[in-house]
Amino acid sequence: MIKRKKRVSLLTEPRINLSLPHMSGTEMEYIEAAFEMNWIAPLGPNVDRFEQEMAERVGVKDAVALSSGTAAIHLALCLMNVTRGDTVFCSTLTFVASANPILYQGAEPVFIDSEPDSWNMSPQALKRAMEDAVLRGKLPKAVIVVHLYGQSSQMDAIVQICNAYEVPIIEDAAESLGTTYKNKASGTFGKYGIYSFNGNKIITTSGGGMLISNDVESIQRARFLATQARDQARHYQHSEIGFNYRMSNIVAGIGRSQLRVLEERVAARRQVFDRYERLLGDLPGIQFMQELKNTRSNRWLTTFTVSPEATDTTADEVLRTLEEANIEARPVWKPLHLQPLFYDATYYPHQENLHVAEQLFQTGICLPSGSNLMEEQQFRVITCIRKAFKRSLPNGSFFIIGKREV
Ligand SMILES: *Cc1c(COP(=O)(O)O)cnc(C)c1O
Repeated sequence: MIKRKKRVSLLTEPRINLSLPHMSGTEMEYIEAAFEMNWIAPLGPNVDRFEQEMAERVGVKDAVALSSGTAAIHLALCLMNVTRGDTVFCSTLTFVASANPILYQGAEPVFIDSEPDSWNMSPQALKRAMEDAVLRGKLPKAVIVVHLYGQSSQMDAIVQICNAYEVPIIEDAAESLGTTYKNKASGTFGKYGIYSFNGNKIITTSGGGMLISNDVESIQRARFLATQARDQARHYQHSEIGFNYRMSNIVAGIGRSQLRVLEERVAARRQVFDRYERLLGDLPGIQFMQELKNTRSNRWLTTFTVSPEATDTTADEVLRTLEEANIEARPVWKPLHLQPLFYDATYYPHQENLHVAEQLFQTGICLPSGSNLMEEQQFRVITCIRKAFKRSLPNGSFFIIGKREV
């Protein structure tokens, strides 16, 4: 029997997580109010108020609270009548939930590469994909634009292209609630926007999502579809397929409390980013995700790439070093066009020989970035990363950060 070398370090330090729920402290007031009124059933005053408060916060006419962000994307596609035989364009560098609803509808996803500045949808690739679609005589029914890690996509260019071809946009703003692009809330540039309140997002209800739009009628129809598509009648009458996608009144109470501290959460995550950039920015080959001009990112997760040309330390090695220190870090999303699930999907690279999302996947790292990440924890992460770079550093520039505010 071969005895493996024991990794003692795994258990010596407490776990540091990527992004944990961060409660505001007033959640129980909303939940208790619901209990007092016995409003435990789905729907109720917390749901109505949460929808109004979200719509006001991001500046749209209406919003519908749902069981998840994925459900919100699915309903947006239903509202656009996406069906078998249709195509839908989608960012390739994203979580699978952005594209799964395309498959729910039996439609065909076409993946669009990232561009280097925002890491998000490349307008160049989108334009080529549209030109091809015209040649084939079949435009997509929708374009799903994802705003990764809190960074807005290049919305001016993307909106312009989609308008030119009259293709509506769904913004997957699951990760970018609180972000602005030219002082306008991320998620409000397309026909529909979606947010997620999953446990790791910038605010959370434990699980949930929101579909927003300025088209009040469509949102009303989304409410209908999300409640089993029940027709108006005394008996149970149904003429089309519906879903059980509404958010419960208890969960919405958590959301209302969380929404009140959104700005503080953004500020905290931005501070986490600043600290990482300040204390790791000198490392050879490190490039943090930049903030797009005229935007303010919520910095949901701090991410950087390690350039293989500038150092012999690799992203893989940094991830391994962090894991050994019991720190949860992740590679950047694996592009969807590389996923076995989408092996036959069409994909448009940024340029013929420049595959940006693939490069980001190979070189990118997401760091622990919770708004409740403590300074000492962050110093542990920083020290660990500097250790991973030690052999690439000139003598003397390795340092361990103490407890002081730096
Ligand atoms: C979290 C996330 C979703 C899905 O949201 P859920 O509420 O978990 O269904 C969709 N897209 C992106 C980019 C996400 O990060």
